[in-house]
Amino acid sequence: PTSGAIAFVVFGVTGDLTRRKLIPALYELALSGRLPQPLYILGFARRDWSDEFLRETLREAVVSYARTQPISQPALERLMANAYYIRSTFEDLEGYHRLAALLKSLRIDHVLYYLATPPEEYVTIVRRIGEARLNKRGNGWTRIVIEKPYGNDLESAQALEAEVHNVFSEKQVYRIDHYLGKETVQNILVLRFANAIFEPLWNHKYVDHVQITVAETDGIGTRAGYYDRAGVIRDMFQNHLLQLLTLTAMEAPWAFNADAVRDEKVKVLKALRPLRGKEALANTFRAQYVSGFIEGQRVPGYKDEPGVPANSITETYLAVRLFVDNWRWAGVPFYLRSGKRLPVRCTEIVIQFRQMPLSLFNWHNVAGEAPNALVLRLQPNEGIALEFGAKAPGPVNQITPVKLEFSYQETFGVHPPEAYERLLLDALLGDATLFTRSDEVLAQWAFTSEILKAWQEYPVRNLPVYESGTWGPPGADDFIRQDGRAWRNLV
Ligand code: NAP
Repeated sequence: PTSGAIAFVVFGVTGDLTRRKLIPALYELALSGRLPQPLYILGFARRDWSDEFLRETLREAVVSYARTQPISQPALERLMANAYYIRSTFEDLEGYHRLAALLKSLRIDHVLYYLATPPEEYVTIVRRIGEARLNKRGNGWTRIVIEKPYGNDLESAQALEAEVHNVFSEKQVYRIDHYLGKETVQNILVLRFANAIFEPLWNHKYVDHVQITVAETDGIGTRAGYYDRAGVIRDMFQNHLLQLLTLTAMEAPWAFNADAVRDEKVKVLKALRPLRGKEALANTFRAQYVSGFIEGQRVPGYKDEPGVPANSITETYLAVRLFVDNWRWAGVPFYLRSGKRLPVRCTEIVIQFRQMPLSLFNWHNVAGEAPNALVLRLQPNEGIALEFGAKAPGPVNQITPVKLEFSYQETFGVHPPEAYERLLLDALLGDATLFTRSDEVLAQWAFTSEILKAWQEYPVRNLPVYESGTWGPPGADDFIRQDGRAWRNLV
């Protein structure tokens, strides 16, 4: 715990992320009494706002987040009484001098900077913080949270790292991947390392393969400018999918602290068999959505979305087959997939266990896979299911798939808290376990960039298309079927 006054300095305080995620998370923390006090919110952006207007807008953000829930006025007012606005462009050094003066006049001991800005602005802000000597102040701590995307490829991520490390030491830097703030993502580690019964099976001897799916029903909305340059590979694969992979595949850390956990995650990334050139083509499958129906509503195709070029070959669906070449996982394929405009919004990790050596019973299930799977559902209806075969009643030995289920909400009676709540609190308390370390983000990019290079080296004119509201084109099924396996149909 910190003693002394803290400033939470939000660059981009007038933006969408601040309104939808950061301020509601601070409010929830204030409500539950976990927010370190005294805490000041210092907002930095270029619109012509006053302190009073900032407070009013942030109040409205909390009200619209809470919807029908009653608001605790004392908690809200405690936050808002200490909110101040600094109007400046990110380029103008003078704005940072005003920030310095405000920090001084409010007698701030510790500072958490948060870059809730377009990624092109990260370098300017970091440089100016350095030039204004705001990267280290007196005896207090100074930290910086940096949003995704963290670079577009290995080279740009390295360049960003160099800029960030010119001004901040690695211990000060918190690269956020909000997936790690999800309660059920953290539960992967608890399930694996607090229970004796799973770990002995968690390896190539018993696991046939692993599937990780992040399915979205959303299209790209108004974000064509960003999305068409990113695609699934930058938007989901390099960060969220690889995070889920490392947590699933990592060895037990020697302690549950930031460096021990992240050391093990980095080892998984280093053990990934590189996908270069034609290997990358053979082990990835891309597609793009066309018009179709989502929840009964017709939705436009990707190329009809405003701002998408007519000849775009950006993937909105991606499946990747990869191997973790270490003793635990030798020969076990990991199938990672994510797409937009799929039939459901759902994130699942499936550990599919092997067949028994000899089949004694008549096993009736849909895909013909072995009966045992452990399913970690990260959203929605967070929970865990263990699937196995049981004898159906009757005179014949017919085996039917059944499930042992744990539902987060039924057991604990609450929905898991928002990811940002946990992550902001950790950053304020100085716990970086759930943030991405420098070598980790670079290892993610080292693997991802090889795939990007191969796609460039072997360009295609068009991608296969899939109707919105389906699980991708037939090629997506063939991609895994050629290995004698099938995607699990998610609910
Ligand atoms: P946004 O709505 O476009 O907000 C951008 C903010 O930056 C605004 O406050 C804007 O201020 C300010 N700004 C931009 N250029 C500026 C300049 N030159 N000088 C001063 N202020 C400037 O962006 P966002 O959606 O909040 O996203 C912020 C970051 O979070 C991005 O990196 C994004 O990838 C990441 N992220 C967002 C979400 C989300 O749900 N929105 C989720 C995950 C990650 P003015 O309005 O005053 O010009």
